[in-house]
Amino acid sequence: MSTLSVYHRDNRILRGARTVSQQYQFTPLTDGRVRVTGGTQPYEVTALTDWSAAPTCTCPDHQRTDTKGYCKHIIAVLLREPALHCQLLELFL
Ligand SMILES: [Zn+2]
Repeated sequence: MSTLSVYHRDNRILRGARTVSQQYQFTPLTDGRVRVTGGTQPYEVTALTDWSAAPTCTCPDHQRTDTKGYCKHIIAVLLREPALHCQLLELFL
């Protein structure tokens, strides 16, 4: 993977996370799950405040290896909750 593609990947998911943060709706569910609606279809993010597991999302981007599992929905959910902020560090490793 080239440096350029890594840069492109980060830009794309960060631009997407900005849109999700500003325009989508977030509905807390049980067990650390949050329903994210506003895109083509709703997705469900699971993020645990004790960081005992990496965050997950039901969208296709979460499965992609070049995103390291960090889709725009996960980033937006981590940004919204102060207790989850530290988990954003994984994006930079
Ligand atoms: Zn997602």
